[in-house]
Amino acid sequence: MKKLPEIEQIESMIPTLGSRARFEILAHSQKGEVKMPIYKITFGSEDPSAPVLGFTGGVHGLERIGAQVCVSLLHSLGQLAMWDESIQETLKKVRVFFIPTVNPIGIFKKTRANPRGVDLMRNAPVEADNAARWVGGHRRGPHFPWFRGYEGQPMEVESQALVDAVEKEISQSRLAVTLDVHSGFGFLDRIWFPYAKTVQPFPDLPSAFRLKELLDKTYPYHFYNFEPQAQSYTTHGDLWDYLYDQHRAKNYPGLYMPLCLEMGSWMWVKKNPWQIFLADGPFNPMKLHRLRRILRRHNTLMEFLIRAVASKDSWVTQDQQLQLQWESKAKELWYADV
Ligand SMILES: [Zn+2]
Repeated sequence: MKKLPEIEQIESMIPTLGSRARFEILAHSQKGEVKMPIYKITFGSEDPSAPVLGFTGGVHGLERIGAQVCVSLLHSLGQLAMWDESIQETLKKVRVFFIPTVNPIGIFKKTRANPRGVDLMRNAPVEADNAARWVGGHRRGPHFPWFRGYEGQPMEVESQALVDAVEKEISQSRLAVTLDVHSGFGFLDRIWFPYAKTVQPFPDLPSAFRLKELLDKTYPYHFYNFEPQAQSYTTHGDLWDYLYDQHRAKNYPGLYMPLCLEMGSWMWVKKNPWQIFLADGPFNPMKLHRLRRILRRHNTLMEFLIRAVASKDSWVTQDQQLQLQWESKAKELWYADV
């Protein structure tokens, strides 16, 4: 059977990590003879109310680097869990999970969509205010990119597996953060917070601002643009909008902050223009030295996010005064024209 190198890497960690991590197969993605597992790997506390951090990648198969970055972070955390006493202590109270290859056949076949031609990031039942035509998601059929799936159809196997697994992780958690890793948009690495469906601010704007402030103060030379996703483009069917809205609609107890890391791939293309002619060229670093650089580039972000979920009071508050203060700074920064 055909194997994806990223899945082989995950499977090779099973004997090494032993009881330090829990491996499960959420579902299989299938197309004809080809069948590939969607793995979830979980470290740390099994208390449902524990703070949770999740990393996901490979939702868009063509953006393979997203899956590779996730596997690289998974590898590092696995090693730290074996010898680093401070991480071992943290993992007693925090849970960290990885779903690195959400769309394995898409990765294998170098397609953005899943094997049925559906763009998983347009596939959730969420309607946007003013989605961009075509790019924002459409229902015309799988022969055009950004297909949402036909009206009234259930979510695709891969989307449903992701949504179910993430909802289970975050539902009872005091504080949950997820980071979905993508590539392709612009020259900069962006960290996007909700919404994708509207340019209007989302309800947890104060905490998003405070998290950005902590990142800026702690790592003043970091290279991320931390901003609302809809300021780049508005889309229907965003999986993270859906999970966030469901979390609120069901009155789950904690705060949930879904983030996307959109790695700016245009810089890689600028430095190596010929790769634009390859199917996956516009979305991935092609030169080995650049690939290695990207695979180590986000280690600090992972460590920052682990610390942030373990230190809730530093950026999530019930203090109304403080909330108003963070909100007004956020509006000044991001919503001056809205
Ligand atoms: Zn993407």
